[in-house]
Amino acid sequence: MPTRRSQDTDAGDALFETAVEQFDAAADLIGLDDKIRTILRSPKNEIIVSFPVEMDDGTLRMFRGYRVQHSDILGPFKGGLRFSPDVDLGEVKALAMWMTWKTSLANVPFGGAKGGIAFNPREHSDGELQRIVRRFTHALGSNIGPEHDIPAPDIGSNAQAMVWMMDTYLNAGGMGDRQNTRRVVTGKTIETGGSVGRDKATGQGAAFVLAHHFEQINRDLRGTTAAIQGFGNVGEHCARAMARMGVTMTHVADHTGAIMNGHGIDPERLWEHTSRHGGVAGFGDADEIDVEEFFSADVDILVPAAIENQITEERAPNVKASVVVEGANGPTSVRGEEILIDRGIEILPDVLANAGGVTVSYFEWLQNKMSARWRLAQVDDELRRYLWEAADQIEEEKKRLACSRREAAYAVALNRIGTVFAQRGIWP
Ligand code: NAD
Repeated sequence: MPTRRSQDTDAGDALFETAVEQFDAAADLIGLDDKIRTILRSPKNEIIVSFPVEMDDGTLRMFRGYRVQHSDILGPFKGGLRFSPDVDLGEVKALAMWMTWKTSLANVPFGGAKGGIAFNPREHSDGELQRIVRRFTHALGSNIGPEHDIPAPDIGSNAQAMVWMMDTYLNAGGMGDRQNTRRVVTGKTIETGGSVGRDKATGQGAAFVLAHHFEQINRDLRGTTAAIQGFGNVGEHCARAMARMGVTMTHVADHTGAIMNGHGIDPERLWEHTSRHGGVAGFGDADEIDVEEFFSADVDILVPAAIENQITEERAPNVKASVVVEGANGPTSVRGEEILIDRGIEILPDVLANAGGVTVSYFEWLQNKMSARWRLAQVDDELRRYLWEAADQIEEEKKRLACSRREAAYAVALNRIGTVFAQRGIWP
């Protein structure tokens, strides 16, 4: 049966309230101008589209898609597209707001947006997926564009989905523009104009941020252990990047279950298993554990890289890791964070830890604009430079304002946005 969700759910609304609460706290901290605060508390545009798609069996099904454009004060709207039955307006609004802070913090010339389609991609054939993505792109029409709003992959979507979007957009536009509009989406395959290093960028970025943190506290990353929740794009590449830095992954969890092996789980072998079986459950070289055991794992580093609201008030007291690296967006609840901080656990917040994806998306967009191709070493070097610069600014602000690392990250982001608002003015 078709799953048509109402456009608002309590969980989605609660997530947006959390996002606004975090924003208000940071705005208070830096004394953000009231008018700018009023503008930034709501998204600029909320687009909801309903569109029909023919299924393989000849039946027709309606789908609901979202694109929320939070702010374009620093540049075109930018943010991922999520394909999941849980997608709803409140969730997308929260994620769009977080994107505005993230692009500003990373200092890339983009604003913030997010979108999604409320459906489970695992339940569809490739043919159905392609028709859903193309029809969604068509329904969005000129609400996206290479200098207006630039989607990218997120949970449930991937490079192939971005290529279908690009192709649909290109074919619906004018002939003359075709070659210079490929940058309407990022996270494409290399062959169609994607950037080398974009597939691993978010996970790689999280590992760079972690390495920088360890360097600052004079601790050696080699020989440490990690637990990773989510073994999708972010979790898998973070595991591989951390392994290259000498970190042993001993615990992994995803939507199919949780596993552990005290001697280490090889990312390559786990990836072979998850690509064949759709999840970590049943991986031969580890024991199955329950999700609460996963969150209380005796490791040095905990990387939530799956979905929101995982390190909650109930789980935070059991966390044994000394560092939490937020690969996912919003994985720690407000109360969960307070408990972690009280217990002296360091949090590398999502707006920094997973900013690698949007940073390399910017590099991809630039390469498309210049018809250029960068080498992997160049992408990685620039990525490291952008993230470490942001991390250093956060540490300075954290010291100056005597606040949490997340508040400091928001302060850096909001100061940049506030300056641009002040210089441009609010018109008419
Ligand atoms: P993905 O679809 O590639 O992988 C998602 C992973 O989460 C899978 O391993 C899945 O099994 C797991 N998961 C889903 N539901 C779960 C549940 N209920 N419990 C436990 N695990 C569950 O998605 P992704 O692109 O890796 O995104 C993961 C997170 O990182 C999201 O919060 C996303 O917004 C964020 N993020 C992604 C990017 C990117 O470039 N892909 C960039 C920034 C932030």
